Amino acid sequence: MEQKYVYLFSEGNATMRNLLGGKGANLAEMTNLGIPVPQGFTITTEACTKYYDDGEVIADTIIQQITEALKKTEEITGKKFGDKNNPLLVSVRSGARVSMPGMMDTILNLGLNDESVQGLAALTGNERFAYDSYRRFIQMFSDVAIGIEKRNFENILDSVKESKGIEYDTDLTAEDLKEIVIKFKKLYLKEMGTEFPQDPRQQLMEAVKAVFSSWNNPRAIVYRRLNDIPSSWGTAVNVQSMVFGNMGDNSGTGVAFTRDPATGEKKIFGEYLINAQGEDVVAGIRTPQPISKLEQDLPECYKQFMEIAQNLESHYKDMQDMEFTIEQGKLYFLQTRNGKRTAPAALKIAVSLVEEGVLTKEEALLKVEPKQLDSLLHPAFDPEELKKSSAIAKGLPASPGAACGKIYFTAQDAKAHHEKGEKVILVRLETSPEDIEGMVAAEGILTVRGGMTSHAAVVARGMGTCCVAGCGSLKVNEEEKSFSVDGKMYKEGDYISLDGSTGNVYGGAIKTVAPEITGYFGTFMAWADEVRALKVRTNADTPRDAEQAVGFGAEGIGLCRTEHMFFDEDRIPVVREMIVSESEEQRRKALEKLLPMQREDFVGIYKAMQDRPVTIRFLDPPLHEFLPNEEADVRALAEEMSLRYEDLKATVESLHEFNPMMGHRGCRLTVSYPEIAEMQTRAVIEAAIKVKEEMAYNIVPEIMIPLVGEIKELKYVKDIVVKTANEIIENEGVDLQYKVGTMIEIPRACLTADEIAKEAEFFSFGTNDLTQMTFGFSRDDSGKFLNDYYEKNIYEFDPFQKLDQNGVGKLVEMASTLGRKTREDIKIGICGEHGGDPASVEFFHNTGLNYVSCSPFRVPLARLAAAQSQLKNPRK
Ligand code: PEP
Ligand code: MG
Repeated sequence: MEQKYVYLFSEGNATMRNLLGGKGANLAEMTNLGIPVPQGFTITTEACTKYYDDGEVIADTIIQQITEALKKTEEITGKKFGDKNNPLLVSVRSGARVSMPGMMDTILNLGLNDESVQGLAALTGNERFAYDSYRRFIQMFSDVAIGIEKRNFENILDSVKESKGIEYDTDLTAEDLKEIVIKFKKLYLKEMGTEFPQDPRQQLMEAVKAVFSSWNNPRAIVYRRLNDIPSSWGTAVNVQSMVFGNMGDNSGTGVAFTRDPATGEKKIFGEYLINAQGEDVVAGIRTPQPISKLEQDLPECYKQFMEIAQNLESHYKDMQDMEFTIEQGKLYFLQTRNGKRTAPAALKIAVSLVEEGVLTKEEALLKVEPKQLDSLLHPAFDPEELKKSSAIAKGLPASPGAACGKIYFTAQDAKAHHEKGEKVILVRLETSPEDIEGMVAAEGILTVRGGMTSHAAVVARGMGTCCVAGCGSLKVNEEEKSFSVDGKMYKEGDYISLDGSTGNVYGGAIKTVAPEITGYFGTFMAWADEVRALKVRTNADTPRDAEQAVGFGAEGIGLCRTEHMFFDEDRIPVVREMIVSESEEQRRKALEKLLPMQREDFVGIYKAMQDRPVTIRFLDPPLHEFLPNEEADVRALAEEMSLRYEDLKATVESLHEFNPMMGHRGCRLTVSYPEIAEMQTRAVIEAAIKVKEEMAYNIVPEIMIPLVGEIKELKYVKDIVVKTANEIIENEGVDLQYKVGTMIEIPRACLTADEIAKEAEFFSFGTNDLTQMTFGFSRDDSGKFLNDYYEKNIYEFDPFQKLDQNGVGKLVEMASTLGRKTREDIKIGICGEHGGDPASVEFFHNTGLNYVSCSPFRVPLARLAAAQSQLKNPRK
């Protein structure tokens, strides 16, 4: 039988999300539930995949199936495509498995042409409305499906308004609109060399093609990379018959949530516009009314709306985000989906739904995106500094959190300055999907127009970025890249601060402080901890970070990078002294100076971690990070070491490496200079003895040797550690256990992990180096070219952020299996950046690792990701 690529809404259901996309599956489900939905059909994600497989053409069988579905839609609605008397008009929208703001905008009113526009006029008795719809359609179709810039159409509109002395679009007459339609079509002809397509079927096929193509536009690719969405999913296309919210004062359109998406409070939250089409609400061009006002305007519709909204929430067991249109007093639902929400709202909703008996704890755990927890932990303003500041303007509190940065007025500028290391605030009249990269780069987003459901508000909330929207008192001059408010001007590069929880905008910079965490967070995270099998540790190099991480639920330190302890201003000279020493004696002198500092470092860390395990990684400095480069530094060091400047300069030059990341670092340093490992062992063991005696904590230090690729190399270093440690323990006459393990971060270590496990008492995967060496490209330099790979769909994501499961992951699996063959109960963890990436955490869970270790702020995220992994794939 021929494969089915097109489904009427009445043929699908909510379980068919992968095939029909989220929007399509929900439209089908609502149809089944008997909710009033304008009927239509969904072209499947498989049709999209086939479109790409076939070289970006829509296959004949798909065209045929679309034509049949269209015919059935005509029968259901009693209207006809392109008809002079009773035309069927449709909207065309993309709809992937998960909602993706990077993709194609909606096209409305498709099916209008020179004839059907008359049909629409006759049908509605409103010629002005018909021609207004037609001119909107030409503009939208040309912009979205064909790529003729919207600005060109807006210029025509403005010039007609000017010539007629008209200020508002609403003052244009039917005759004016007819004139605009003629001019728009002329523009199309000039740009495209062909007439504006009059055949609605041709319009539809162009629109379907545009949706499929938008799956691979740069914005969508960026969005997919940020959200772990594979390109193989493809997008569905929804073709839905139009209903009109702009047919007078008993019509309207709106967007609503069943709970407050900012706080999670249980109350209908939404906005609508009387006598308007959907794009007016979403684009934020007119400021909408709160949904409660609908009760006065159209009480019957309000009542019906509230009932259906409640039913939808109960049905989906989650907060719903719904779009609706009222056409001459009749209510239609155009869409429903699980609504995007802030992190605090996500937690409150999850906990409330369990308390309300709607969800089990396990189901609730799966409702929160681990990445969202990150934003929960983001800063707020320092209250003292805030007291001294007064707001220069107030907009809508669209997405909470505090942000401070330099203002930029285009997404490109925001992105470019972010890449230079600046904290940036993106200021826009309103945002649209092409701003996504600038929005991602920004600490905060400020818009002049638009409500709580505008693009800026919805996208910022989804990303957990602070946003103030609809701040109408700002006068933005886009050309000059500035805004003024109350007579004061703020130019590109000036600092402002935003409070996304109150909507306040402040001139100048306000210090931010770490956030406070609510009871919902504690309750929810406790549920996650009950469930998960994978332990979560942290990467921390200071007592402060360690304490922070314990507060976030870290169960130990998985990586303490000792070289990070050496970056202090007063330590760098001593470390340099050690590095450039030409004799063991000289080096021992420098190490003597470092010993007490290191010991105190470890005392602080043990105290912060109490009885929790602490893994201390021995020195692993890529030398270039420490060598003196400036002449003044070399001179100062020469003086300190009583050396001739020229001699020291020559030494520094001789230490220069072409590829420091593959150079004299990790355990290779100890092989050359065993006294370094001696000093570090001494510091680790002496500090442990001290804290154990003082605080009675059960400390079992875990000493980790980095960059091992050969068993003999590990044995050489381990022997030094064991000899030094045992001597101290014996001399002190104390009882102290310790472990010596290794990082697995070189492919050869993975290949020979069975041998390495003979010496190593634990493994910790250093997936940063392992990724670097498996791919053979540098951690430091790959950023320069990986973008080309994303654009060309060669890589879909940055393998330094998300583990490459097919390649690096195989090495991790292999090394774990080999290691356990030799040492059955060997503890295995991972401490590369991937320990804080949800998809990678799931992989490590599935691989049977004991723990992941990540930066303090990502600990909650990893705890939740670990719990979700266990729920999806339980292990004992
Ligand atoms: C690693 O390589 O993954 C690792 C954790 O070590 P570093 O990033 O310090 O090289
Ligand atoms: Mg490493």
